[in-house]
Amino acid sequence: MDGNRGAVLRYPWDTPPPRGEMIAVAEGVLWARLPLPMKLDHVNVYALDDGDSWTVIDTGMGSGLTRDLWERLLAGPMAGKPVRRVIMTHHHPDHMGNAGWFQREKGAELLSTRTAWLFARMLMLDDQDAPPEETLAFWRSAGMAPEILNKRAGEKPFNYADIVYPMPLGFRRICEGETLTMGGRTWDIFTGNGHAPEHATFWSRDDNLVIAGDQILPSISPNIGVYATEPEADPLQGWLESCERFRAMAREDHLVLGGHKLPFTGLPIRMRQLIENHHGALDRLLRHLAAPHSAAECFAPLFKRTIGEAEYGLALVEAVAHVNHLYAKGLVSRTRRKDGAWLYQRRE
Ligand SMILES: [Zn+2]
Repeated sequence: MDGNRGAVLRYPWDTPPPRGEMIAVAEGVLWARLPLPMKLDHVNVYALDDGDSWTVIDTGMGSGLTRDLWERLLAGPMAGKPVRRVIMTHHHPDHMGNAGWFQREKGAELLSTRTAWLFARMLMLDDQDAPPEETLAFWRSAGMAPEILNKRAGEKPFNYADIVYPMPLGFRRICEGETLTMGGRTWDIFTGNGHAPEHATFWSRDDNLVIAGDQILPSISPNIGVYATEPEADPLQGWLESCERFRAMAREDHLVLGGHKLPFTGLPIRMRQLIENHHGALDRLLRHLAAPHSAAECFAPLFKRTIGEAEYGLALVEAVAHVNHLYAKGLVSRTRRKDGAWLYQRRE
């Protein structure tokens, strides 16, 4: 659901740091990129200079390659100073995949919201050889195309533990409304929902920096998805609430350091875009649901482009998030089709 690409946003750096290098985006704040083996092929990580040590924010997907890159960063631009604290903005593996490595191998303390940490530890234990029955039921309810469902039913699912370094016990909780000192600044901690529960963001009191993780991204809209763990969830409600809250805090001069893409200014307009993108999608979806459709039959009005097989999974969880939101709001009703799919239809 990309939209309004770059209309009034400004990107102070038009190219990201090359592999193994870092860019100082402000005094004491370094930006690096780590590769991801997917369509979205990178994640941004940051190191904040605490004088005698570093605070690292987000760590990349857990792999030998990303840990080798971290070793290069630590020895090079980070000048061999120890990493005393590692922060995970949210529980997704591209952000916290090496957090346990920093704890175990580098002696760092892990800081996280409680929900993000619990989710990560819970998912570490969920080691599956085949999709469980609940996942198959969820896919059927969403109306997943039969040929894709049959294929996926026979495949070993993605396991979180495969791409996340083992997490030792213990962390320090960070909370909404607290402050944290790092990189020579005091930061307000605000948490958001929708992309990941209790996602942490950091807003500098001393200058214009906002470290946003995936809660606020330029040029791509963070994925809002529903999963088999909570099939009736309405993450879009949490997303829109968070966006409205951050919109009220947004300043023109804020420099937003996100989890993907480039640092940018123009946060007030970006918050408006992020909200309007979903309202626009919900309006198109409601018109589409004049006739009954499953979530999987809602890609065209939601995404306005063809969805390939590589994107199908992400598109499906996002489509379920949108129909669930309309259903929770009482704007659509639903009935079961013979094959188990929920069909949603606009209430008159
Ligand atoms: Zn991400």
